[in-house]
Amino acid sequence: MTEHVEQLEFQAETHQLLELMIHSVYSNKDTFLRELISNASDALDKLRLESYKDKDLHVDTSDLHVELEVDKDARILTVRDNGIGMSRAEVVDLIGTLAKSGTAELRKKLNDAKSDAAAEELIGQFGIGFYSTFMVADKVALTTRKAGETEGTRWESEGQSTYTIETLDEAPQGTTVTLHLKPADEDDHLFDYTQEWKLREIVKKYSDFIAWPVRMKVERTVTEDSGEEGEEKTERVIVEDQTLNSMKALWTRPRSEVGDEEYKEFYKHVSHGWDDPLEIIPMKAEGTFEYQALLFIPSHAPFDLFTRDHKRGVQLYVKRVFIMDNCEELMPEYLRFVKGVVDAQDLSLNVSREILQQDRQIQMIRKRLVKKVLSTVKDIQGAEDQTNYQTFWKEFGRVLKEGLLSDFDNRETLLQVSSFASTHSDSEVTTLAQYVERMAEGQDSIYFMTGESRQQIESSPHIEAFKAKGREVLILTDPVDEMWVGSVTEFDGKPFQSIAKGEIDLETEEEKKASEALREQQDKDFADVLSWLGKTLDESVKEVRLTNRLTTSPACLVGDVYDFTPMLERMYRASGQAVPESKRILELNPSHPLVTGLRDAYFTRKDDADADKVPELSETAELLYGTAVLAEGGELKDPARFAQILTDRLTRTL
Ligand code: ADP
Ligand code: MG
Repeated sequence: MTEHVEQLEFQAETHQLLELMIHSVYSNKDTFLRELISNASDALDKLRLESYKDKDLHVDTSDLHVELEVDKDARILTVRDNGIGMSRAEVVDLIGTLAKSGTAELRKKLNDAKSDAAAEELIGQFGIGFYSTFMVADKVALTTRKAGETEGTRWESEGQSTYTIETLDEAPQGTTVTLHLKPADEDDHLFDYTQEWKLREIVKKYSDFIAWPVRMKVERTVTEDSGEEGEEKTERVIVEDQTLNSMKALWTRPRSEVGDEEYKEFYKHVSHGWDDPLEIIPMKAEGTFEYQALLFIPSHAPFDLFTRDHKRGVQLYVKRVFIMDNCEELMPEYLRFVKGVVDAQDLSLNVSREILQQDRQIQMIRKRLVKKVLSTVKDIQGAEDQTNYQTFWKEFGRVLKEGLLSDFDNRETLLQVSSFASTHSDSEVTTLAQYVERMAEGQDSIYFMTGESRQQIESSPHIEAFKAKGREVLILTDPVDEMWVGSVTEFDGKPFQSIAKGEIDLETEEEKKASEALREQQDKDFADVLSWLGKTLDESVKEVRLTNRLTTSPACLVGDVYDFTPMLERMYRASGQAVPESKRILELNPSHPLVTGLRDAYFTRKDDADADKVPELSETAELLYGTAVLAEGGELKDPARFAQILTDRLTRTL
């Protein structure tokens, strides 16, 4: 007896996605089988592990395998595994809905994906595992029973807006996926998935390395010879189970023996991705700590790289037995985009996270993996063809730079492999070594400015004198840049210096001598007006001083060396942390007509009455300060007041 059948609606995104799949012209429909076998293999891994850990789990693990079965006449393909299975809730959660973290992003992309090409790319980007079955089937059923449970679950959908789910009193252990294949294409037998040769070919191509046997019932004609002379030979058809894959763990085989295609397919299996790897990194260590590793740098950043629930990095195996996904102990956070497998020889199969955190062997392995990944990045950076490095940096540069904050041991290497936008070129990035090479005579610092966009930095007053003098400035616009510049002090003996902080002196000794008299005069001329401005703007700034960093702007705001930048303050506030309001320094351009004009006005009017009481003057001071805030892309505290004063002034000029 079965319970009533419940009909449920797919989420809007899932429905849209199914539509896409059903009408997909995705050029490689064969991949649906790879996805199903990959899921089955994961389920078998999980069951074996569970049975190690939970001695009370009474399951038969003596013949774990995947099985394909074809009913040619009914056009049904069945993929069966005797793995961990799913509970009813898991089916609803895992099969009925899509990964929650990506939903908003996916919705947006689905709406944008008007063309077939765009849809195809989307399939590739999101790696739409189980749903890829709807490329080849117009009805899909899944029956499953979770290890240790007595009731099973049946899920079925025609890929429209609904699916049904029911609880079964009985079901075999594991999961069975039944595909009601679409009618075979008359002209294109290449896509007939009831053909034995076709299935054999796909398994060989995409799933050969799967550690569990993938079996298929095949018919074989045998010729029997009774041995007696003169007797006819008889032919008989027998049905037998054939294992289609070699089951050789790819990471145990020498690189020279493995084809690139095999590596690529394995990458797709471990990463649940649909892209190709950018770099393949096989590793092998013998001796005290024996391990084999096969790592990959993907060619695309996953959409959830910066969300908290991003997982799936490196898998840990012990003596070819799968232990865990996303073994954080093997890869630092900033290399979380690296995928692959590490197979350690001398760990216990019962190893837990707690043990891993303490384990010396794991720490050693991690160290070497990190070094190897970084040296691979260095290699592609040094290669004549820069395409791969450019891709790498575009996709993962922002993540890698997080390492500048956390991985002190490799800081030097990280700085070497990093690239930055700079005023040297509008389109190309530069390495620090290239920057240092271009440094001007007498320049001893590496200049940079952080901000929200290139445009904002390039039009900020701080950069004027650097442009005028032809000094190169690094343009740092990633949020992580704000963080690392606070703790990395130098590269190649050259200190990093923010051009928006501290005092800047770009003059050579000679220039200094030449302008010495002028400076002295200016200091004298402005002394009174500076101290008056300091008082008038006391609520907004901590000091008012002259600078020679400005050429065309009247004023700019700078921080002290250890002050937070406005962007860093905003970042902290956005993450919910309280940051004290910090006042900055107002720097004035002593040759700007507005500044000299204000000075002269101050001297003529200050004796009229108390200068503070002359609204004209203090309003000009406010405007001067407000303009400096706006020029660097900042926000005014009281924009209405600023607009009011400005409007009054403009009206009077007409
Ligand atoms: P992914 O494999 O990338 O997570 P899928 O769409 O292929 O995405 O599968 C979704 C989830 O459904 C899997 O993560 C797994 O938890 C579950 N699942 C799918 N197939 C099976 C199976 N044969 N046995 C057990 N669980 C499965
Ligand atoms: Mg999958």
